[in-house]
Amino acid sequence: MSRLPDARADLGLREGYHSAQVDAEVRLNTNESPFPPPAEWREALAAAVGDIAWERYPDRAVGALRAAIADQHGVRPDQVFAANGSNEVLQSLCLAYGGAGRTALTFEPTYALHAHIAHLTGTTVASERRGRDFGLDPGAVADAVRRHDPVLTFLCSPNNPTGTVDDPAVLDAALAAASGLVVVDEAYGQFAERSALARVDDDTPLVVVRTFSKTWSLAALRLGYAIAPAPVVQLLERVALPYHLDACKQVAGRLAVAHEAAMQERVAALVAERARLLAGLAALPVTVWPSQANFVLFRPEGRDGREVWKGLLHRSVLVRDTSSWPGLEGCLRVTVGTPAEDDRFLAALAEVLA
Ligand code: PMP
Repeated sequence: MSRLPDARADLGLREGYHSAQVDAEVRLNTNESPFPPPAEWREALAAAVGDIAWERYPDRAVGALRAAIADQHGVRPDQVFAANGSNEVLQSLCLAYGGAGRTALTFEPTYALHAHIAHLTGTTVASERRGRDFGLDPGAVADAVRRHDPVLTFLCSPNNPTGTVDDPAVLDAALAAASGLVVVDEAYGQFAERSALARVDDDTPLVVVRTFSKTWSLAALRLGYAIAPAPVVQLLERVALPYHLDACKQVAGRLAVAHEAAMQERVAALVAERARLLAGLAALPVTVWPSQANFVLFRPEGRDGREVWKGLLHRSVLVRDTSSWPGLEGCLRVTVGTPAEDDRFLAALAEVLA
């Protein structure tokens, strides 16, 4: 008999929250940028790493990086909380505000980690369904917020995995009805026409979460942040572990912000490529949903989603299999890649569907 203890009974830990890291020539499954970060950023980082005082703990207050992010968004550094990926920002929010007897509200289908992290932190999860074509109706959102009275309401715009962007009226409705915080996950915000960032101020219970993983071509860096009212940032700092952001990451993030123009070029290229990918999909027997992110959700018509996913993998093209997610039956999600990668994907899909 094993002497190892059981996990916490309330966790009910399941697999499947994490994308499989399967080997494939064309990897379009985790919404990474297909472009490497700028060479100048690499060079600047290599030089700066030589100056790090490795024998000392890093700047606990993350001063220079927060100042750089604040400057970029026109907010104050005390309105910026940075962490190891936006997932850790979300976790910090749940640690600070969630817990036993408190509720987090999600609108499904959405980014699975909102509910998962809330659950891990002992927060009750209330889930409502998105409407037709995955849109959110302001009245329905207000009604759900009033019924569940969540301490955290998670919106996701553009929404992963549907690509949907919320109308500003949705945020207005959530903010008007909420007694807790409204969290807008903008992991894909720079790919979209609209952002909630300008709405953040110290008197509004609104938190906007962003990441360096997608638009900044820095998924390996594990850096994300929240723009939030200063009192919220103070609370998030209290639940973060001491020195949670290592010195190298702080420097790398700060230097990335200095290369914003190169990041914007990459975003523009991906937005143009997204239009080409959507047009390519429209010519195939699939249903496609409009997207303002760097991915597209589609459903092969009359075909089993899992089988199509396998057919693509057989051709060394890896996409995200969302076909068994509630509300996404039969659907697959493909990340916008380079033109060459997207051509490989479209050709493979045409073959599988032939
Ligand atoms: N939010 C959304 C909506 C995402 O899709 C992702 C990544 N898949 C994240 C947050 C987490 O990103 P990271 O932890 O890499 O910043």
